[in-house]
Amino acid sequence: MKDTVERVTVNLSTNRSVTTIKEKVFTLSEWREEAKKRFGKNPDNWRFRCPKCKREWSVAEYAETKGRDNIESAFQECLYCDWKSYGLLGTMGDGLVVTFEDGSGGEVFNFAEQKKAEE
Ligand SMILES: [Zn+2]
Repeated sequence: MKDTVERVTVNLSTNRSVTTIKEKVFTLSEWREEAKKRFGKNPDNWRFRCPKCKREWSVAEYAETKGRDNIESAFQECLYCDWKSYGLLGTMGDGLVVTFEDGSGGEVFNFAEQKKAEE
């Protein structure tokens, strides 16, 4: 069978590159739109899943444990284990890639499989 899946290679800010299917690569604004589509406008309700321990959490839960100042880590550092999406093994193929205007990119956790929360 012919492989018709389009793959994209993104250079990460951590001196690695990652090749993944096009559907998993977002610009920062596309990623925000996707999060809104899934979980609603309030970022507190956005949910992520760890590729290692497979547990899920919301930004609000993350802030409660790690503090408001650290919510930028909610999609890069697991709330439950010590997995980091920017670590050597990235997201082990179970994550997304966000690209920035300068052409670099970073691996982030997948969205949790959950329906949009009530607004
Ligand atoms: Zn984890």
